[in-house]
Amino acid sequence: MNSPYHECMNGQGKYLERNDRTIRIFSDCIGWYLALSHYASEQDVEDGDAEYKGALFFSSELLILYCPFCGTKLQHAEQSGILLLRHILTILASDYNEQRKQVPECIFLPDELGRMANRGAEIARSLFERRIISQESLESIKSINTAFFEMNSSDCSRDVWTNDGVMTDVSWQRIRSLAESSFRYVQPAVSG
Ligand SMILES: [Zn+2]
Repeated sequence: MNSPYHECMNGQGKYLERNDRTIRIFSDCIGWYLALSHYASEQDVEDGDAEYKGALFFSSELLILYCPFCGTKLQHAEQSGILLLRHILTILASDYNEQRKQVPECIFLPDELGRMANRGAEIARSLFERRIISQESLESIKSINTAFFEMNSSDCSRDVWTNDGVMTDVSWQRIRSLAESSFRYVQPAVSG
């Protein structure tokens, strides 16, 4: 297995997108999940139900054994956490265009990148508890999440938390370099 995502649905996997919803099947060190998320549409914003388009309305994750779309029994490996973490760090370290390519248009990009950093820190903690990664690796990955908290709590202009901000702001460049330097700590196990 070389992907933390199951990709039977539309050939490219990762996100199955329908209007303002996404469905993903992915695995970490615990098991496989079916994740359903619903994001605010322009109509929701007009109706006053959301502040901005692409804000997360609702999200739910279920642990699963079989793919509900094709029935495949999903094999789980301890290395899944490593693979998912590597995937997350790769996206966080990528430039704006690549990040936009990876995240569907219906999702507000800054929020999604922040959620990825948060998820990355959770996986890293779990991998550390299983003695798969070192304390140093854990601290490195947690520093990305900390940088996000600082971005949110600082008084700096709200422009940081926009698509333009992701493209040009120095805070986002800092996130990229932290993700890039964390990547070397997360090596897949040598098999065979
Ligand atoms: Zn399937």
